[in-house]
Amino acid sequence: MIIFVANCGSSSIKYQLINMEGEAVMAKGLIERIGMDGAKLSHTPADKFTVDIEAVIPDHNVGIKMALDALTHEEYGVIKKLDEIDAVGHRVVHGGERFSDSVLITEVVLNGIKACCEIAPLHNPPNLYGIEACMKLMPGVPQVAVFDTAFHQTMPKVAYLYGLPYEMYVKYGLRRYGFHGTSHKYVAQTAAEMMDEHMTDLRFISCHLGNGASIAAIKYGKSIDTSMGYTPLEGLIMGTRSGEIDPAIIPFLMEKENMNAQQIDDYLNRRSGILGISGLSSDFRDLEAAANRGDERSQLAIDVFAYKVKKYIGGYVAAMGGVDGIIFTAGLGENSPFMRDKICNGLEYLGTRIDPELNKTRGERKEISVPRARVKIFVIPTNEELVIARDTFNICRRIIKL
Ligand code: ADP
Repeated sequence: MIIFVANCGSSSIKYQLINMEGEAVMAKGLIERIGMDGAKLSHTPADKFTVDIEAVIPDHNVGIKMALDALTHEEYGVIKKLDEIDAVGHRVVHGGERFSDSVLITEVVLNGIKACCEIAPLHNPPNLYGIEACMKLMPGVPQVAVFDTAFHQTMPKVAYLYGLPYEMYVKYGLRRYGFHGTSHKYVAQTAAEMMDEHMTDLRFISCHLGNGASIAAIKYGKSIDTSMGYTPLEGLIMGTRSGEIDPAIIPFLMEKENMNAQQIDDYLNRRSGILGISGLSSDFRDLEAAANRGDERSQLAIDVFAYKVKKYIGGYVAAMGGVDGIIFTAGLGENSPFMRDKICNGLEYLGTRIDPELNKTRGERKEISVPRARVKIFVIPTNEELVIARDTFNICRRIIKL
């Protein structure tokens, strides 16, 4: 079965074409700056060079059409005709309380995703544009929605309720939902495989540290807590997001800095985090380099970030009554031995320590704790596209006769 995986952001589309026989990526691509000047598609067929195509890409419909044209192109395409695509898997950010698993997209499901736009006004609309474009361009091809929030729907009420009047939860669905669910699930499953055990017998703390960053406590196969909340703004300090702050700071800043709701939202989402603390960059590579040159605020941003991650790890050990494995994933988690070391330094009381030699790894699956550590530490590159493709495959193989 050949599956087209689409991940539509507000101005971008990431896609992959995956042949589920051997789970081979046939091609992948990225469309950037949709609706803006300088829009382009970068298309990479497996084992070939990337092709860059600049074009006017006014909306997601045109973007998806370009991706499909590239996949079927005479020169750099990987399939001859569109009907070789058996199914489509879409990343959908918010499934609210409606969706606790991946689902085949029907009219009812589509309305459910639309209803979740109210709680995810930035994220769900572009996901919907992608779904609608694929439905139009590939009529009759089954489409599956895979939600970022679904894996966390197992959280108990104690973990997801905020200290607000209960009516606000009932009326507006104001609660913790959590995100990066496909990534947390994938790395926990992979870690269990690496330990030759079942995820349902183990407790993991999964640290997804990228531009967006979140941590999850996964107890016996189920997410029981996670750091992102009602939106992806809560929790850790991130590239440009503040993470958790005293909520009283919001009206204070609005008054003192003369900001309206939209402006404060933008301030906390795009101008805060490690960018805000360092005043330099939202990219840890820049901060590590600047800190090495003696830049104090870059060093401070690194220190604050690592401290917060460590605090969450401690909190989740308490929430689960122990831990069997700590997992690092996403851009920073996979690629920064320095940050992993900094976060784990001092966790010896848990029965674990990083092996400095093993920790020298970047972007590869590896156990990096010292031999015979009671708590294992892993680096596991995440693969959200593969999880989307697998879920799509599992749902569609019941309905497609191959
Ligand atoms: P996104 O949330 O956008 O998917 P990624 O998972 O791609 O983010 O992570 C991007 C971040 O990972 C970068 O901003 C950078 O801070 C960090 N990163 C990537 N490679 C390295 C590296 N070699 N060393 C340190 N940090 C890195």
